[in-house]
Amino acid sequence: MGHSECLPNWLEKRSELSPERIALEFKDQRYSFLDMHNHARNWASAFYSEGIRRGDTVGLLAASHADTVFILHALFYLGVKVVLLNSRLTQNELRFQLDDSEASFLISEQIYKDQVNFLSNHGITAFIKEDFLDKNCGEAPILHEFVLEETATIMYTSGTTGKPKGVLQTFGNHWWSAVGSVLNLGLHEKDTWLCTVPVFHISGLSILMRSVIYGIRVILHDSFNEKLVNDDIRNKGVTIISVVTAMLNRMISNLGDQKYPRTFRCMLLGGGPAPRSLLEDCKLKHIPVFQTYGMTETSSQIVTLSPEYSMEKLGSAGKPLLPSELYIELDGKKAPAYQAGEIVVKGPNVTKGYFNRAEETHKALRDGWFYTGDIGYLDDEGFLFVMDRRSDLIISGGENIYPAEIEGVLSRHPHVFEAGAAGFSDSKWGQVPYAFVVLTQENAVSEEELKEFCKQYLASYKTPKRIIFVKELPRNGSNKLLRRELHTLLEEEQ
Ligand code: ATP
Ligand code: MG
Repeated sequence: MGHSECLPNWLEKRSELSPERIALEFKDQRYSFLDMHNHARNWASAFYSEGIRRGDTVGLLAASHADTVFILHALFYLGVKVVLLNSRLTQNELRFQLDDSEASFLISEQIYKDQVNFLSNHGITAFIKEDFLDKNCGEAPILHEFVLEETATIMYTSGTTGKPKGVLQTFGNHWWSAVGSVLNLGLHEKDTWLCTVPVFHISGLSILMRSVIYGIRVILHDSFNEKLVNDDIRNKGVTIISVVTAMLNRMISNLGDQKYPRTFRCMLLGGGPAPRSLLEDCKLKHIPVFQTYGMTETSSQIVTLSPEYSMEKLGSAGKPLLPSELYIELDGKKAPAYQAGEIVVKGPNVTKGYFNRAEETHKALRDGWFYTGDIGYLDDEGFLFVMDRRSDLIISGGENIYPAEIEGVLSRHPHVFEAGAAGFSDSKWGQVPYAFVVLTQENAVSEEELKEFCKQYLASYKTPKRIIFVKELPRNGSNKLLRRELHTLLEEEQ
């Protein structure tokens, strides 16, 4: 890619191409692309009048609502790098991300005033959006072109395996992510993407990017509620939704015997392992699940199962999207089919690195390939099966055990709502697997019965040595199972 390759400012361009089309729906408010552009311009003027300039880094701490979408675009209009902050973080975690990303401003809102006060006291120049409402500002100069090489967003990884790292996502990364996705899923004139995943994560942000690039409507929810989600899919013409396993589980139990309309064409399922039983359940119910694999560093999906294979290759995350490549590395070499190893990826949607972390960037990015830290294998037709994270691998008596496999088996049991597995130290085997289970109903099944159940599907070394019943599993801001916190859970139980 040339050094200063540019594209027209996406939303501005979109507001010229299809001004009247609905861009965003939030709580019965509808905004066209032209409305969205006008709102973004006004916010850009407001921020400009406060001294925010091209090249600055600005933190955004905001809930998922319409203003947040406008503000985000406004910051792109100004040529600002946006640090998307997870609203579920503690004050100190927020402070860490703002310091770490060298942000000079914070934009937030009244509902986060405690966090804002705390951060202001620690030297961060913070604005509350409500304070701008009746200000009259002059016009700000806005970018009419985006430079693809420039960083649009700095997004911290979920911190599932350790301290979050600031991933640099360029305009080019976002562009190619949107293009890769649409070349796989296709684009229908009436497409509507329901966004109930947080916009501070790549899953949500990428939907907002696609909306302006494709010119499609987004229905935004401020949080995930399975009933409201099912209502909207059934009544509002939703064609696509992005979900993680925990959300899909809840949607299906809420759906009961009801059906989704035929126009609903894609349940994009990513973010973590998908138990086979869930996929089979969806298959029976004719729910069009598309498994995907991706991460903050790949600016959303990099591998997705194409529609025609969704049944035949159940359990696979698919093949790399058109702009991207992938191979499995084992002992420094390309692994043959069915051999598990580290998933290594490449493509214009892949980050150029972690902000201010030369060493980690160097470790992860080698010769243009990104080492994901995830383990998987390719079948003989090149379909990817993601197994687990390298760091969560349990090694028991020299055998590899993947916690996701145990969790998948447990969730097949009718009384298991969800399960988490992790390795615990053992004097004989080094490590042995334990499982933590949330039942659909208290005492519905005993530990012994569940172990027996596991033995039908798992070799005995993989069968959890203990099964601990808990009320809920530890999850982070992106609803991901925190396996390393299962250890603390055990201490609490005792
Ligand atoms: P951190 O890097 O800080 O530990 P994280 O990796 O959870 O956090 P994200 O970028 O949000 O942060 O998540 C990407 C990860 O999610 C992938 O690297 C992978 O481990 C997991 N994942 C995504 N899709 C799948 C999938 N289809 N199957 C299994 N795991 C998946
Ligand atoms: Mg990661």
